[in-house]
Amino acid sequence: MGSILSGSRTQRGGRKALEALPTARLTLRVLHAVNRAPGPVVRPESSDLATVVHGHQQWLVELSVTPLNFGGHRRWMVCPECGGRREALHVLGDRLACRVCLGLRYGCQHENRRARLVRRIDKIRVRLGWPPGPLAPAAGKPPGMRWGTFHRLAGELDMLTDALVGNVVKWIDGAEAMLGRRGKTTV
Ligand SMILES: [Zn+2]
Repeated sequence: MGSILSGSRTQRGGRKALEALPTARLTLRVLHAVNRAPGPVVRPESSDLATVVHGHQQWLVELSVTPLNFGGHRRWMVCPECGGRREALHVLGDRLACRVCLGLRYGCQHENRRARLVRRIDKIRVRLGWPPGPLAPAAGKPPGMRWGTFHRLAGELDMLTDALVGNVVKWIDGAEAMLGRRGKTTV
């Protein structure tokens, strides 16, 4: 619990996870020849459909074309989960999806937001003369502080702690999605 609430996991975690995932990339070259690089293989089936093969797994992926300013086209893979046009899709468990759907980018945002909340909570707790840390025990009104000030700070502290707990719930949702425990949409 301490590691979740303290914000000690840095944003590096999310990026590393992304780099480590098998990634399917679509370029014009792989549309004409089977990609021989290690990792997922993109095999075109038609002008708007491709099969991504990774080990014994495979997914059918839609292709999308947008015109370029100076002629020619740019091809994209359509994320099977959100329908967004993507340059790369990643394999995570039995899912093939973009980084947004896999929760990798959101993971970082939650890390930063959580760390900010913990810092704000600690600042108020120090003003109250309480030990820092969202789960540390609360003490009463410090001597010499006005009751009005105390109630305002205590109310703010409650709000921030609620926000932190909500944030952790979202973070757990993202982590579960990353592990492929939900939202399975394999074609
Ligand atoms: Zn997506």
